[in-house]
Amino acid sequence: MRPTIRFHLTALALLALPITGAGDPQLLQRAAEVRDRALADNQAYDIVAGLTSEVGPRLAGSDGDRAAVAWALIRLKALGFDRVVAEDVSVPRWERGTATARIVAPFPQILAAVSLGGSIGTPAAGIEAPVLRVGNLAELKALDRVQVEGHIVYIAGRTERSRDGSGYGKSVPKRYGGPVAAASLGAVAVVIRSVGTSNARLAHTGATTYIPGKPRIPGFAISNPDADLLEYQLATGSRVRMEVMSTARSLPSARSANVIAEMTGSDPAAGVIVFAAHLDSWDLGTGAIDDGAGVAIVTEAARQARLAGPPRRTIRVVLYANEERGLSGANAYTQAHLAEIPAHVSATEADLGAGRVWRLSARVSDEVWPRIQGWMPVFEPLGIELGQNDARGGADIAILGRNGVPFVSFSHDATQYFDYHHTASDTLDKINPADLSQAVAAYSALAYILANGAEDIGRVPSPKGTQ
Ligand SMILES: [Zn+2]
Repeated sequence: MRPTIRFHLTALALLALPITGAGDPQLLQRAAEVRDRALADNQAYDIVAGLTSEVGPRLAGSDGDRAAVAWALIRLKALGFDRVVAEDVSVPRWERGTATARIVAPFPQILAAVSLGGSIGTPAAGIEAPVLRVGNLAELKALDRVQVEGHIVYIAGRTERSRDGSGYGKSVPKRYGGPVAAASLGAVAVVIRSVGTSNARLAHTGATTYIPGKPRIPGFAISNPDADLLEYQLATGSRVRMEVMSTARSLPSARSANVIAEMTGSDPAAGVIVFAAHLDSWDLGTGAIDDGAGVAIVTEAARQARLAGPPRRTIRVVLYANEERGLSGANAYTQAHLAEIPAHVSATEADLGAGRVWRLSARVSDEVWPRIQGWMPVFEPLGIELGQNDARGGADIAILGRNGVPFVSFSHDATQYFDYHHTASDTLDKINPADLSQAVAAYSALAYILANGAEDIGRVPSPKGTQ
């Protein structure tokens, strides 16, 4: 019942106080001060440098994952949060082991390859089979079993580079769904062109999925230059044979935690705003841009907003467990906080790297959207433009959105992001401190506005944009 009540109260408040584009001048003035202080003096780089150098890779359920939780509890307490807790989360555990891929014929070559996250391994001797190339997942699904059976299926298709990162979304279905689709047609393994834009000889990992009760085959990614090489040999018209080997395996589930840190609001009835990132990472790099940067941004934004004085609403930083392999932390958070969901005033997630923020968007009711637009004078000096009322939030907060919690989101410049994301190159040196500071300034000012605005920003009407 409470979401409905809140929505109606907000609607009444909006009738009483007509929305103007100008917003609350005092609130926006103070937000601009928060922005400028954060731009000049923030500790976000120190936070991500600490996480990547003192912990490093933190695949869900690994020793690094446990170390990250311990590290975050200590670091966030030291940064002055009022309440810092770890909430238990059960996470699936998987070990990469080693993986190799090579062309056996017509021209033998070794390829740079990794196992897809969650993939099963191969027999110790590996799997050798002829290669069948398909352009994409849809093409694979359209084939007959007789065409696929006994083959290693190679799924081509480049990931487009773009500022908004949309090329990733178009390219990633082959990674999630390739092994299941190929196995159902009798293939013995899947190899994909990496879901990334890098021309380095490094392959891109990321989760694949299986369906209980359906056949499972191992999945691999090869780097873009190695995919070029394979395609050249395929284009000669000769029969290409590959051998793949992997010692990847799943292990019993393990304990991890969501780390939650709060700057307590002065008005207990005013609710909480959530600033989210994920603490886990893939295991190949040190998880600097994915998502150490997000951890640093939301943590420092909360701290910067608090420097302006106690917020009216509680600012809650949630560092989620296991985003990468199935959103365990997001699901556990929602279960643990179900009764409290109506008190969630907004949710904002940072999980698109450390690039400059270039766009603000939201997912709010049509009545509230003009109010969000009225905040733009705070963000325009950072070079941020207004997007649409169509924000998707992010993987971890999507479930809050389905429960009516509105989003206010930033888009980071993702032009370079997928050169490093999920590869061994996801390391601290890929973060430009000036770009990170600009992003922190944006998130800090947003945290200030969301935490201190006189009215909340309503609920999201259920028919719109649910995902
Ligand atoms: Zn991420």
